[in-house]
Amino acid sequence: MAEGKRKGKLVTVIVIAVLLVITIAVGRFVGGLPDDLFSDVGLRSGQTGDSSEFCVHFINVGQGDCTLFTCGDTAVLVDGGEYAQANTVVNYLKNQSVDDIDCLIATHPHSDHIGSLSSVITKFKVNSLIMPQLPEELVPTTSAYERFLKAVSANVKDVIPAKAGKSYTYGKLVIDVLSPGKTYDDLNNMSVVARISCGGASVMTTGDAGTTVEKDIIAAGYNLKSDILKVGHHGSRTSTGDKWLKAVDPDIAVISCGKNNDYGHPHKEVVNRLKKAGVEYRRTDLEGSIVYRYDGKDFTEVDVL
Ligand SMILES: [Zn+2]
Repeated sequence: MAEGKRKGKLVTVIVIAVLLVITIAVGRFVGGLPDDLFSDVGLRSGQTGDSSEFCVHFINVGQGDCTLFTCGDTAVLVDGGEYAQANTVVNYLKNQSVDDIDCLIATHPHSDHIGSLSSVITKFKVNSLIMPQLPEELVPTTSAYERFLKAVSANVKDVIPAKAGKSYTYGKLVIDVLSPGKTYDDLNNMSVVARISCGGASVMTTGDAGTTVEKDIIAAGYNLKSDILKVGHHGSRTSTGDKWLKAVDPDIAVISCGKNNDYGHPHKEVVNRLKKAGVEYRRTDLEGSIVYRYDGKDFTEVDVL
């Protein structure tokens, strides 16, 4: 009888143990996917298996600009929005598993473009910085610019003055600087205009440069054809002229601006020019951050990770 009791106890223990394992397993999936799922299969959240993929992230920073380009381990950031957006930008980069920024482009020193960059520069290793070299009379004396310069001088060794015609390669990303090629008397027009490409795909980014600059770039004879155009100056009527649209010939245009902003961006003239040219356009003020991934053939929109 003693032997039978022991066997009975053993069976009970095994049944309880099996039930416990089933309960834990069901609980994990009912309660949502486990956080370490991506590491379980060798991927971190925010990464994809194919390192050759080219992604463009139009990060919603309200009234301002902030665009992240990633290709494998390479990251290029163009502008960062106002200082108040610093946490948004830093957290976004962390979510994308960005460690180092291979190249930071500060298109021009207005606070809606460089405001958050002092914070970005102190939190991420920035290997090189491209920014316009300004004539004395255009150098701003704002606290945003002072903060930015302080962070740059303490943390960034390789500062490259933007010069039209120069090209820089970081991993598979190529940055062709198209402007400024001369000195303009308006700070917006001193914006770095760059065509950023990876394999057969390219994106045109223009800061707040106006139609005068667009005409100069067209006259210089560069290859401007791009799949995506980041619309100049948040959709202001002073940028994105018909000739520019024809030369860049984008499939998609993205306007980065704030909801109900004081400037009325995007101006209806620009929206009409885009419609007339048959270009699909998207707006960060209406949709939040917008991300496109290139699959070797086309750009397709993907969810923000
Ligand atoms: Zn701006």
